[in-house]
Amino acid sequence: MTISNEKSVLPGKVSPGAVRRGTQIRLTGVTKDYGLALPAVNNVSLTIEPGEFMTFLGPSGSGKTTTLNLIAGFDTLSKGTIALNGTDVGTLPPHKRNLGMLFQNYALFPHMTVAQNVGYPLRERKMAKTDIARRVSDVLDLVRLPGRDENYPAQLSGGQQQRVALARAIVFQPEALLLDEPLGALDRNLRGTLQEEIRRIHREVGSTFVFVTHDQDEAMNLSDRIALFNNGCIEQVGTPEQLYRAPETLFTAKFLGDSNVFDLGDAGFGTQAGWEDRTWSVDSRTVASHAGVLSHAAIVVRPEDLMVTRDPSSVPAGANTVSASVADLEYMGSYRTALLHLGRSKLRGRARIDASDSLLNVGDSITAWWKPERQRIVSA
Ligand code: ADP
Ligand code: MG
Repeated sequence: MTISNEKSVLPGKVSPGAVRRGTQIRLTGVTKDYGLALPAVNNVSLTIEPGEFMTFLGPSGSGKTTTLNLIAGFDTLSKGTIALNGTDVGTLPPHKRNLGMLFQNYALFPHMTVAQNVGYPLRERKMAKTDIARRVSDVLDLVRLPGRDENYPAQLSGGQQQRVALARAIVFQPEALLLDEPLGALDRNLRGTLQEEIRRIHREVGSTFVFVTHDQDEAMNLSDRIALFNNGCIEQVGTPEQLYRAPETLFTAKFLGDSNVFDLGDAGFGTQAGWEDRTWSVDSRTVASHAGVLSHAAIVVRPEDLMVTRDPSSVPAGANTVSASVADLEYMGSYRTALLHLGRSKLRGRARIDASDSLLNVGDSITAWWKPERQRIVSA
């Protein structure tokens, strides 16, 4: 055990400053091959910075859990290396990596009280009884579950049980916390509340969090950065805003948020791009780096960037336009969504319109437009 691991079992209040700022997790060429057609994780390289909130986002089966398990040491690498703060941990058993884990099913010990559950990792580490009691009480305050020490898990709600599991995962001040769809079993409202709590706890303890989810909204709400998984590979890494505003591929554009997608085929584009009978301006700043001139490309326009008008003469000069009809209107509270048929092929699209705009009706023939700098050309 390293000196920093020794430090982690010293008693101390779980509060800002009392906990290490977290570890760096560096994956290099990480591959896990179960002998299926494709490796479950395929040559993933990624550096998660100390104290960062990193989310692994992606569809079911894309390799998120396998990657997390490789970091935790629950699974063995087929190829590649994993380093914690620069030290290769590829052959270290899980308990020597000193990482906290939180899963979807709370996995509490049913025959132990809340205090015994939370104190378990400290008893494993042979901490003195009085120190354990203090640390358990501090961490139950941190997860906002005071006064429930003597309850058994079955006496708590799902959300409360997950708070206990979270307390148990951080009570020993791990190098980093790995969370695999921890809110997946909770209802929508509770998910929202616990998302805020996890964010706050991340801020307060300051250690590195790696959070797995397939829910794009959850990923957008929580993360400093998102690594988007697709078929065992990382499709793109970036801040939520980078992934939303500047997707490199159609997969990323479609996975994060709604988009209007105009397929350009393999025809390529230069300063202009053609779609059906239209010719649109291309702003070079909006072209993704992998969207080559002679490869399959698509133009993506977010619903909030697609404007609609019944009066074509009101469209500003320089805008890209397409004829459209209104297929439906959805009331969303603070705004409405117009579902559109775009162009001759009646491509399905959507625009966000003002909730008070009562001029637009279903069946209207309209012009949809956007500024060239608000589109994104991605590889498809
Ligand atoms: P995710 O967490 O993104 O849903 P997983 O990492 O669980 O995805 O799985 C990635 C791929 O690896 C899937 O095709 C899955 O079926 C396969 N896989 C996961 N674990 C095993 C295993 N122990 N044995 C064989 N295949 C596995
Ligand atoms: Mg999974």
